[in-house]
Amino acid sequence: VENEMIRMEQLNLVGQIAAGLGHEVRNPLTTIRGFLQIMGKKAVVNEYKDYFKLMIDELDRANDIITEFLSIAKNNIRKREKGNLNQVIRALEPLIKADAIRQDKYIETDLKEIPDLLLDQKEMRQLILNLVRNGLEALPDGGIVSIKTNQSPKGVQLFIKDDGIGIPEEILNKLGTPFFTTKKNGTGLGLATCYSIAKAHDATIHIDTSEKGTTFNIIFKIIN
Ligand code: ADP
Ligand code: MG
Repeated sequence: VENEMIRMEQLNLVGQIAAGLGHEVRNPLTTIRGFLQIMGKKAVVNEYKDYFKLMIDELDRANDIITEFLSIAKNNIRKREKGNLNQVIRALEPLIKADAIRQDKYIETDLKEIPDLLLDQKEMRQLILNLVRNGLEALPDGGIVSIKTNQSPKGVQLFIKDDGIGIPEEILNKLGTPFFTTKKNGTGLGLATCYSIAKAHDATIHIDTSEKGTTFNIIFKIIN
């Protein structure tokens, strides 16, 4: 019991440090960003305008990394309750559809009846968001990301499929490594978070990819 207590306190400490990082690092970044924006507008030399834009992009990237790190650290304290995956997806639908439309892309859903699972709703939301965002980012204009659920002998299955650029064979084994990214402004934390969430839910992630697109298949064991 005592070991357990110490572990819980350590988890809390990670959470507290994370929250502190959020304030102590993000606030100054916000201030700097604001001034850079003003200076960028006032810059007379065109070349300088580009530098200001670059600085702001880099700050945004640092901010994204902090945001994702915070969500991982906070999630260290997990709360799993009986819930339905379809419900999580339906609640997210308006947000991701709006996200997609803004980029001239589409989201399709096909949710079959599935049994309840032991879920941490926030984590499930994060997992789906991360995979859908990756799907959208891999798509050409007009492309579609589809989200499907069904029940199979293997368990409850979630499919997130895009008809995007696909994942090159040689990077498949790097997926899920924190900070691994091939994107100019990526954080490389999306899939690492997904793997950690899947693990906490006794779920497995399978990837099927070709130059025609990619499907992430997450399989959850059914509880009785
Ligand atoms: P990020 O999106 O910030 O790059 P992720 O951990 O979400 O970080 O993804 C890591 C890398 O995996 C991406 O940079 C990309 O190369 C690859 N990837 C992930 N999902 C897809 C996808 N659906 N299609 C193509 N490549 C993908
Ligand atoms: Mg991502």
